[in-house]
Amino acid sequence: MTMSSSSYSLFCIGHPLIDMQIRQAENLISKYNLNPNDAILAGERHEPIYEELAREHQVAYVAGGAAQNTARGAAYVLPPDSVVFAGCVGEDELAEQLKAANRREGVLDLYQVKKGGKTGACAVLVSGHFRSLVTSLRVAKDLDEEHLWSARVKPFIDSAKVFYLEGYILTHRPEIAIQLARRVSESNKIVVLNLAAPYIPRLFNTQIQTIAPYCDFIISNEAEAEAWAASNGYRVPMNMPSIAKAIALLPKANPSPPRTVIITHGSQSTTVVSVDQVDVPRIYPVEPLKEEEIVDTNGAGDAFAGGFLGAFLSGRALDHCIKTGHNLAAMCIGQEGPQYKWPRVEI
Ligand code: ADP
Ligand code: MG
Ligand code: MG
Repeated sequence: MTMSSSSYSLFCIGHPLIDMQIRQAENLISKYNLNPNDAILAGERHEPIYEELAREHQVAYVAGGAAQNTARGAAYVLPPDSVVFAGCVGEDELAEQLKAANRREGVLDLYQVKKGGKTGACAVLVSGHFRSLVTSLRVAKDLDEEHLWSARVKPFIDSAKVFYLEGYILTHRPEIAIQLARRVSESNKIVVLNLAAPYIPRLFNTQIQTIAPYCDFIISNEAEAEAWAASNGYRVPMNMPSIAKAIALLPKANPSPPRTVIITHGSQSTTVVSVDQVDVPRIYPVEPLKEEEIVDTNGAGDAFAGGFLGAFLSGRALDHCIKTGHNLAAMCIGQEGPQYKWPRVEI
C-alpha cells in the first residue's frame, strides 16, 4: 500500500518511549535520590529502577515520549491523516504497544526499527502533583539521518507545514535535528522547538543556540526557561516575560514569521512574547483544576503543545491556540499518564 503524504501537515520528531508509571512514588524518589519534579537521563545507578518497577510495583505501561505525546495531542484536535511522528524503536513488544497507541489515536508512525534493539523506556514516578522522569533511551538515540531522508519519510517532510522537535533530540546526534530545522525553515515551513527539560538548556545550550535561528516557536515550562536564562548569563531568578523576551530576541535566519516564545508554568499563567512586540508580553491565566480532577501531571506540557499545534494548524488565532493548549493539558491531567479522553470529546 502506498500512503499519500499530501494530507499530513504536522511532522513531529523525538524519542519514542514507553512510560512505566507508578503513583505514590515518594519512597523510590528518595531511594534513587531524585527531584520530585524533574526529568533526567538514567545513569548507571538508576538502571535497576526499571526491573524494580516491573518486579515490585503496580506499573501502568502507557505510550510516552515528549514529541510523541504532542503528536497524539495534535491528532486529537486535527482531522484524520494530519500528523506523523518519526523516531527510532527496537524490535520488541514495547514498540508494538507504541505503534498500537499511535494507530488508535490517529498518528502515522514513521519509525526506524533497529534490528534486535530495545525500545526506550521512561520511569515516571508520581508524587502529589509532581512527576519525576528517569529515561533510558536505548535505541531511541540511534535514529539515522538516512532514515529521515529516505524514500519512505521524505515525502512527509515535503508535505508537512509545521515541524515539532522535542529538545531531547539535541542530546545525541544533534546535527540531524539541526539539519532538518535548517532545511525546512529555508523552505519557509514553521519550526517549533520545545526545550523539554531543564537539563537541555543546562547541558546542551550550544545545540539550542545552533538550532534557534531556524525556530519560529520556542515552547518551554518555567524550570526550562530559568535553566536557559542561567546558562546564558542572565541573573536568576528572572521573571517569565523577561526570559521569553530574551529567547525571542535570539538570532533568526528568516525574518518571517517573527519568533514567538511560549512559557507554561504549571497551574500558573502562561506567558507569550512575540519578537514583533517584544515589550508587550501576553499573559494567559490557567483555569484552576479541582483537587479531585487531577490524576497526575505527567505529559501536561506535551499535551499543551499538542493542543496549541492542532489549533494553529486549524488556522486559529494565537489566543485560541493557547486556550486549546490549556484545555488539552487539563484533559491529560485528568487521565493516567500522557493520555487523552477517548472516545473523543469537544475541547
Ligand atoms: P510541563 O509538563 O512541561 O512541566 P507545565 O507544568 O507548565 O508543563 O504544564 C503545562 C500546562 O498544563 C499548563 O500551562 C496548564 O495548562 C496545565 N497544568 C499543569 N499543571 C497544572 C496544575 N497543577 N493545575 C492546572 N493546570 C495545570
Ligand atoms: Mg511542570
Ligand atoms: Mg514539558
